[in-house]
Amino acid sequence: MTSLPVQATTDDPAVLAAYRTDRASFCPSGTPKALVRARSLQDVVQTLQWASENNVPVVPQGARTGLSGGANALDGCVLLNVEKLDRILDIDVEEQIAVVEPGVINATLAAAVAEKGLYYPPDPGSKDISSIGGNVATNAGGMCCLKYGVTGDFVRALQVVLADGRVMRTGRRTAKGVAGYDLTRLFVGSEGTLGVVTEVTVALRPAAARPLAAVAFFDTTADACRAVADHLGGGFRPAALELMDAATIEAVAKLQDLGFPPGVGAVLIAQSDAGTKAPEELAAFELSARKCAATEVIVSEDPAEADLLMQGRRLVGLAFEEYPASLVDDVCVPRRHLAELVDGIERIAKQYDVFIATCGHAGDGNMHPAVLFDHAQAEAAQQAFDAVMQLGLDLGGTITGEHGVGLLKRDWLARELDEAALWSHQQIKNALDPRGILNPGRVIDSRATGRAAVDQRSS
Ligand SMILES: Cc1cc2nc3c(=O)[nH]c(=O)nc-3n(C[C@H](O)[C@H](O)[C@H](O)COP(=O)(O)OP(=O)(O)OC[C@H]3O[C@@H](n4cnc5c(N)ncnc54)[C@H](O)[C@@H]3O)c2cc1C
Repeated sequence: MTSLPVQATTDDPAVLAAYRTDRASFCPSGTPKALVRARSLQDVVQTLQWASENNVPVVPQGARTGLSGGANALDGCVLLNVEKLDRILDIDVEEQIAVVEPGVINATLAAAVAEKGLYYPPDPGSKDISSIGGNVATNAGGMCCLKYGVTGDFVRALQVVLADGRVMRTGRRTAKGVAGYDLTRLFVGSEGTLGVVTEVTVALRPAAARPLAAVAFFDTTADACRAVADHLGGGFRPAALELMDAATIEAVAKLQDLGFPPGVGAVLIAQSDAGTKAPEELAAFELSARKCAATEVIVSEDPAEADLLMQGRRLVGLAFEEYPASLVDDVCVPRRHLAELVDGIERIAKQYDVFIATCGHAGDGNMHPAVLFDHAQAEAAQQAFDAVMQLGLDLGGTITGEHGVGLLKRDWLARELDEAALWSHQQIKNALDPRGILNPGRVIDSRATGRAAVDQRSS
């Protein structure tokens, strides 16, 4: 009979309480039975074998920076935290790949490969605190994804422990390879519902030049959105193209004076790492911005100044934490509908009488409207949060561009997927996790999947 790995397991209530949640506010979390802080592959294998034999739900955790409740505890579950599996196993300069354990922090990997003249582009706003395993499990995006792609575009191979404790390798180290189904892609973005990632092989790129940046100020967010379309329509692909509306600027200004002109309605920040071509790219951005009624444009002269211009955008997460509660949307729409999205969000804020600050990766059409509220407004905040997702769908977009479905948006998945796609999700879940022990109730409703399948078989 298997047991949980003794050395790695605790049931200390204070420790369990500290590990109960990720960073999503307004998302329920239960009381776990135990926490396993895995220090080896064997710890993960043993935990899943035990959980499978005893039909106990397992919630995989990385650094718990998730924004969708996907790593929140369930009543009676085992939290399987892999942040201590944090070794960089290999950086192969010739092949331009790195092999890491899942607990390696994103920025740690980026810094390690930079020392060897290489570049790992996926850069979530949480790059200093989130793990590669978590990035893979959520298919995390970031600012530079506009030019380079999201986490999944860089994952070549995985080692995954399946629900019954078997260890599986997917993908390969080589630049190409099409033997069999693309199981690597299946596990990317699966949010801990199909298996636990214990090793990741990522592709790297040659180092890029340190970026230059430009900031454009507008009276309205709609003008800023038109500038996005105009610049990208001109055939440019900046390294980042980020938007902050007036409400976001107001929130950030409470933390730090960014020296923005008073009364500014929206800010657009473009970054170019095109080396000698960067000034040309930013001049084109300035032209687009002025064509779309920018009131002022500042172009950095050197990378240090560019860093300062990006600073305001990086402070947004921290600024939102100053509010009593927040619900952060993550809708992504076709870029041509960006202006309609931000206008619609302003209407929703008025309709539900809540404060919504909108910022995000404008170049991707991926916005993070954050409903910032105090607890008395919880109901209106939830309605506004839902209305933003409906607006995203109505505009031909998705309920989540990068944060994942988790628990927070689970009930919305069925509105985005068609019946056949939902059925396929359920079949895949049932096949890989027939007992429904892996992060049940996240992404898809486990009542209709694993557990139901077991119930049906035993009845
Ligand atoms: C300030 C801030 C800024 C952020 N900016 C961005 C951003 O720009 N882009 C973006 O995409 N996200 C962003 N996020 C969200 C979050 O950081 C990402 O979702 C990140 O990828 C989560 O990584 P993690 O290690 O914290 O995972 P966790 O939060 O621990 O887990 C996230 C999900 O992955 C699963 N999981 C974790 N590790 C594993 C594993 N090894 N195997 C299987 N499943 C696993 C969990 O069960 C859970 O469902 C931000 C968060 C914060 C707090």
